[in-house]
Formats: sequence, C-alpha cells, structure tokens
Amino acid sequence: MKRIAILGSSGSIGKQAIDLALKMKEKVYVEALAVGSNLKVLKGQIKKLNPSAVSIASDLDAIKLKKWCISNKIKTNVYSGQSGLEKLAIMPKVDMVLAAITGSVGLKSIIAAIKAKKNVAFANKESIVMAGDHIMKLAEENGVSVFPIDSEHSAIFQCCVGEKKNQIRKIILTASGGPFYKYTGDFSRITIEQALAHPTWKMGKKITIDSATLMNKGLEAIEASIIFGVPIDKVEIVIHPQSIVHSMVEYIDGSIMAQLSTPDMRLPIQYALTYPERLKSNIKFLNFAEVGKLEFYKPDFNRFPCLKLAYLAAEKGCSLPTVMNASNEIAVKSFLDKEIKFTDIAKIVDKTMKAYKVSKNMFLENFFEIDSWARVYACSLVEKEFKS
Ligand code: MG
Repeated sequence: MKRIAILGSSGSIGKQAIDLALKMKEKVYVEALAVGSNLKVLKGQIKKLNPSAVSIASDLDAIKLKKWCISNKIKTNVYSGQSGLEKLAIMPKVDMVLAAITGSVGLKSIIAAIKAKKNVAFANKESIVMAGDHIMKLAEENGVSVFPIDSEHSAIFQCCVGEKKNQIRKIILTASGGPFYKYTGDFSRITIEQALAHPTWKMGKKITIDSATLMNKGLEAIEASIIFGVPIDKVEIVIHPQSIVHSMVEYIDGSIMAQLSTPDMRLPIQYALTYPERLKSNIKFLNFAEVGKLEFYKPDFNRFPCLKLAYLAAEKGCSLPTVMNASNEIAVKSFLDKEIKFTDIAKIVDKTMKAYKVSKNMFLENFFEIDSWARVYACSLVEKEFKS
C-alpha cells in the first residue's frame, strides 16, 4: 500500500489522481490533500477520502474549514499556507508526495518532502526548471526516487527502464504543436479564448497558454534534460499532432524506444503511483488501423520564440531558467488578465532574461530571490511598456 499526499488536489492532475486512488484502493491510500483556494472542491474530497490532514493557502479559509469539519464531525487536521504544505509533505505516514501545484509555490514543499525521504511524483515542471539540479542532487543524497507525471517525461522514464543513461544518444520530446501550429493569422491578435482551445489535452489555464506559445515544450525540454541527466542539446523537440507517441529515447546503437498510447493523463499518473507495477486501466486501447498515420515535423523556433528562449536559458544555465520561468508566469497571468498581447509573452520573457546578470553562485535561497527579482522586473515591464 502506497500512502500519498496530493499537493494541488483541486487541479486537473490532482483530481485525476484521486479518481485513480479510489479505483486502486488496495494499492494507493490518500493520506493528505492540499489546495490553493478551492474550498468547495476540498470539502468534497474530504468527504470522499477522509484524509488525516489537509492544507489550504489562506488562514481565513483554514478557519472556515476547521469549523466545517467540527460541525460535520470530521477529524481531519487542517493547516494553511506554505507551512501547511510543508507539514503535509513530511507527514510520517506518507510514502509519496504528488507535487501537482502549478507554478513555483510548490518548490519548498517538494524540498521538504525529499529531505524527509519521501518519493516524489512530479507534475510541477516549474519547480524542476527553477531548481531541478538542486532537487535531483537532494533526491540522490536522500535515496529517494523522482517520478515524472508529465506524459512526455513518463514516456521517457518508461523508455529508460533497464537501460544505461550513458548510452542515450538523444531524447526526442514530442509536442502536439498546440492550437497555433498551423495558424496563419496575426499572432499578436490571438485572443484568450483561441489560446485556451487546446486540440488534444484538457488542462489548467497556465499550462494551456504555455502550450499555445510552446513555452510548455521549452520548459519540458529543460525538465527532461535535468531529470534524465542529458545536456539540453541532446533533447530534440518534434511536432507530432496526433499525440500518440508521448516521447522517445534514441540509444547509441541507433535503437529508438518509444512509448505510445491514446492521449490520457490517467496513464502517466497511474504509472507514477504504481511503478514498477503496471495495473489495468480504463483508458482506450490504441488501434493503429484507426489512428492511420503518425506525423512528425520540425518545430518553428521563429514563430514560437519561447522555444528559442528556453534552449538559450538551458544552455547558459545558472539561474537563467529560473528567470525565464518566473517572467513567463507573470507574462501568462498578464495575458489572461487581458493586459498584454499574446506575442508580448515572449517579449517580456526575453527582456527579463536580457536584464538579468547570470550568476554562477547558486544557493538554495537564491532561487527564491532570483525568482522574485524576475517577477518584479516582469511586472514592471508589463506596467511600463506593454499594458494597453
Ligand atoms: Mg506535457
């Protein structure tokens, strides 16, 4: 029996993980849950799962929730804020922490979990981009395993089982291309509604916009390079509109391993929860004759400048990926708030990266400092240069 804490249980990954846990009752037990602000969803999850502890971002919500628990005779412990997240991450009963909080707020709890020797299943690519080398080093020191949940990284992970890392020639990361891969109109006039209409995956807003700019793929390339320990120039992106091949690994002998399935996030989530076992799942089995063809194209780095920025950040390393990630979060939020144009997202990230002086001395505390510097800088860019 694996006992898990789901940090980010009201999001799309968190909800699917709960559904899976309920279906695999003998294998997975949900011990703790954390959400940002969705009190309603959390209450429903508490009723269904009866976890021993939960956490919510604001203190006020935590007070409301405590009252609700008392009046419903529920014994769940209620925590709040950053410290609440960390409490859940280190609970003695918990074996694995599922890190599904979007953005960099999840980072401290992940570090706490690893130090407490908990395995971590990652759906939080921002944390890896922001502090991946540090996280992987900590994981190694503490003898804990890191399981990727992103469909591509789960695919790469599966392609690497039983193989030697030093025999990898390259990682081939597939991308659906997002809604604008074939778009011929003016990118600067792309609306929020257009950008939120992803062709294959139904996901949260931040990641859907990142998929439209292809920044998501840039973040994933960096994530792959860090998790699997290969330099960024050995991570190649190919556009694969069918989203059937979830990624591939080419070995030095020319063999390519690929993981294929119908696109369904329940599969990588389940694999991370049950590894090394495979359990039956409810996903639709692949029928090749029905699929017909699998296509692969080169991505256009000029139409999608966020890709270029991500490779640049990874090549230069140091803290540039942190700066890129933080400024992108601000830019995406500003786009969703209708303050800037779609094409301004890459411009804001580019300008913030250029303004940052690459520092070779990276300490843990610096991630947060650099992250907030980049946020403040990007915010001021939005205000002064981009806001319409
Ligand atoms: Mg992905």
